[in-house]
Amino acid sequence: METPARVARSHRELFAGYESDPRDDLARTFEEIGGYDELVILKDIPVVSFCEHHMLPFIGRAHVGYLPLNRVVGISKLARVVRGFARRLQIQEKLTAEIAGTIQEILKPKGVGVVIISEHSCMTMRGVNTPGSRLTTSHRLGEVRDDPRTREEFFDLVRQPDG
Ligand SMILES: [Zn+2]
Repeated sequence: METPARVARSHRELFAGYESDPRDDLARTFEEIGGYDELVILKDIPVVSFCEHHMLPFIGRAHVGYLPLNRVVGISKLARVVRGFARRLQIQEKLTAEIAGTIQEILKPKGVGVVIISEHSCMTMRGVNTPGSRLTTSHRLGEVRDDPRTREEFFDLVRQPDG
């Protein structure tokens, strides 16, 4: 029976977030940004995570945005931060806050916004059995939280279906 070894390998991949610090992904930044000072938003980052209550997957997508202050980070790094935190046992609320807090802490932009929309197997496969229901969480910091125009722009950009 190879199943136990296969399951162990699979768990090692799914929970690889414990073996790395997502903060490291944001360490390298670019300061040549030509005066760019508008929101940077990466949308539809896949989220595959496991709820810490039931150890069942929740799967969806994240939208991550920040308002740069003098420097930006490579866009793939934003996706890496999402994946680094997602590959741990989580609740979505905490995952959302951790991603935003880490970007704010390391990159020190003027503000950060993170939205995650996902379907939780612990609800859709069992329990109340509601396939298709999705949970939306959002966490905003700095000007994305406090400045009404920036906040509105963030949500507008996140909502655009193909933009
Ligand atoms: Zn659950």
